[in-house]
Amino acid sequence: MLDALRQISRDIDAAPSFEHALGIIVARVCLILGTEVCSVYVFDKVTGDLRLIENEGFRRSAIGKVSLAPGEGVVGLVAERGEPLNIENATEHPRYRHFSEIGEEPFSAFLGVPVIHNRRVLGVITIQQREDRRFREDEEAFLTTLAAQLANVVAHAEAAGSVSALLNADNVPSDVGYEGIAGAPGIAIGTAVVIGPSANFDHVPDKGADDVIVELTNFDRAIDRVRADIEETNRSLSRQLPAEERALFSAYLHMLDDTAIAGEVREEIRQGNWAQGALRSVITRHVSKLRQVENSYLRERVADVQEIGQRVLAYLQQDIHKDKFYFPEQAILIGEEVTASMVSDVPPERLKGIVSLRGSSNSHTAILARALNIPAIMGATELPLHEFENQTVIVDGFYGELIGNPTAQVINHYQELIAEEAEFVRELEPLKDQPSETLDGHRLNLWVNIGLVGEITRSLDRGAEGVGLFRTEIPFASRDRFPTEEEQRVIYREHLEAFNPRPVTMRTLDIGGDKALPYFPIDEDNPFLGWRGIRVTLDHPEIFLVQVRAMIKASVGLESDLRIMFPMVTNRHEVAEAKALVMRAYREVREEDVAVKLPQVGVMIEVPAAIHQARLIARQVDFLAVGSNDLTQYMLAVDRNNPRVANLYQEMHPAVLHALRELAKAAHAEQKGIGICGELAGTPEGAILCVAMGYDVLSMNAANLPKVKWVIRNVSMRDCRRILARVRRMEDADEILDFIRDQLIGAGLERAIPHHETPSMFL
Ligand code: PEP
Ligand code: MG
Repeated sequence: MLDALRQISRDIDAAPSFEHALGIIVARVCLILGTEVCSVYVFDKVTGDLRLIENEGFRRSAIGKVSLAPGEGVVGLVAERGEPLNIENATEHPRYRHFSEIGEEPFSAFLGVPVIHNRRVLGVITIQQREDRRFREDEEAFLTTLAAQLANVVAHAEAAGSVSALLNADNVPSDVGYEGIAGAPGIAIGTAVVIGPSANFDHVPDKGADDVIVELTNFDRAIDRVRADIEETNRSLSRQLPAEERALFSAYLHMLDDTAIAGEVREEIRQGNWAQGALRSVITRHVSKLRQVENSYLRERVADVQEIGQRVLAYLQQDIHKDKFYFPEQAILIGEEVTASMVSDVPPERLKGIVSLRGSSNSHTAILARALNIPAIMGATELPLHEFENQTVIVDGFYGELIGNPTAQVINHYQELIAEEAEFVRELEPLKDQPSETLDGHRLNLWVNIGLVGEITRSLDRGAEGVGLFRTEIPFASRDRFPTEEEQRVIYREHLEAFNPRPVTMRTLDIGGDKALPYFPIDEDNPFLGWRGIRVTLDHPEIFLVQVRAMIKASVGLESDLRIMFPMVTNRHEVAEAKALVMRAYREVREEDVAVKLPQVGVMIEVPAAIHQARLIARQVDFLAVGSNDLTQYMLAVDRNNPRVANLYQEMHPAVLHALRELAKAAHAEQKGIGICGELAGTPEGAILCVAMGYDVLSMNAANLPKVKWVIRNVSMRDCRRILARVRRMEDADEILDFIRDQLIGAGLERAIPHHETPSMFL
């Protein structure tokens, strides 16, 4: 059965559409298990009913017609219980219902298995037979395994809008709420723009060409660009790679010939398909054919065909997305994986919201959205992406909820919330020049996290008293090679001068993990546990030295304290080596006769091992800064970007809070300052706890600063310590968060907490 399951899985992968995949499943199940009937039912999101969407063994006309209310019939019972149901004579079951549409006399033997994705029942797969018999255990195990595969297919199809298309949901319903993860706070109302790369054929819809000539021209242009790219890569690698290893490029070029794939695509376009659809159809056909062949060399070509197809598709989609006029005034960017570069493709004055099916609140796109003050929803995995193209949508970045096709009443409600929020921000403006100090006179440093030059002004406008984290990889990422020492010096100088005489903390290059530089690819199976942060730069002292020299030179003649800190430190020797390099860079600058202050050095605590060595590390440096985003991910073993486990990513987890407290104690025991620059510091709830623990610096994105300052100025240190004492006795992150929110409400500070009506409550 293993071989059969593998083969089905391969065939599903190669299936050109959701419908084909379903057809393959039911046909193969009947063949392999020798049953007369196999059916797939899925929930219709609009009516809430279970609908028959594919079948082998009934009348074809029954497909789409048979529909069960929740819990109705034995199929409904399987969905209701979320467990397989194996019965010898279904007709005698009290829940049995016969549907005349299927046109047959009743089938006795029945086995139904729920199709479950992320704990949600999406549908049911059943097999049936005329004779009275109980399906065997191995048959049940087979269907259960297949149901798990089917769950991925259905979930993916739901997200791509293929399920509702199949269910003939002809008009999009109003006020439909979809849940994701709160990525960046704020509310936006605008027009959805669905963006690639999805260079992903799954999301290329079928549609006719509006103008065959235009489609042919677009396709030819895309082919020319891919051809130019390949020739360029071939040329640039000619010194490093022998000709035979570059033969792949000739094979790629050949595929682009008129006699091969490109010719077939052109033919399909001439027959009326649009370019992207024609490309998808041809590539899927080739992939499917190659997957069937026995010859392993030819089977390997699948990857090449896919690669070339995606390259062409990427250019076809770019033609659309790069077109500035394509973005409406109030654009809400929606995509499978919205990346920082996609964000930068949109004219800033038009970009109002971001929705990404992948990623979570700590992905860098979310951090960028917060820095740009654009409401964002991440990890909206279930969103039927293409149903929203050009539709009005509401993005609620406070709660991570999207509302599709809102009614006027709902739009009004959200407009009021937007106005209230704007009013609150205006009211907080005068706080800019007030000290960050609790009611009982405890002074704190509220600094900012920064990375884009555009953030400097906003940070100063919001009253930032320093920079707690300058993510230097951001200017590195916007180039096509490492920036030179002088280029870096200019960027760093701009920041130091703007903030002078306030302190500026520059983190040395933190790449690896989910932060890649386009010109320095790091390919690893497990990148978060691999070559990242200080590990990379210690292995490349030439990169590190250039960067540190540029930082030191940039600080010449300024009163500002330059603070340099190292990311992802695990061992003391890393600190010693990094410090030695900083000293070397400092000496080199001094040797050039430049009078400059010695920078302070610090270590980011992001790896659990460093918690236990915090005192030793603190002795080696001037300050510690907790990177609670990574620290949470590593302590809880939860990928910060993975929406599947986003509910387990809890910055308020009692274990994380315990670690934060221990770190503050360790730094103070060594008379060293300690700050926190993870996202936790920028929330009113997290800030209260950090204040109580004795953190000297809270560093956050500029947008959050006024709110956090307002809260701090309206609580006393005594209150914060009392809250912390209670929190320390709690066992659960949600309980902790609810408790702190209740305390804020009790203190009349509820405006610092996002509005309470979640869209689902409102609807
Ligand atoms: C962190 O990990 O908390 C941090 C501030 O660094 P980054 O989010 O850039 O990884
Ligand atoms: Mg980090």
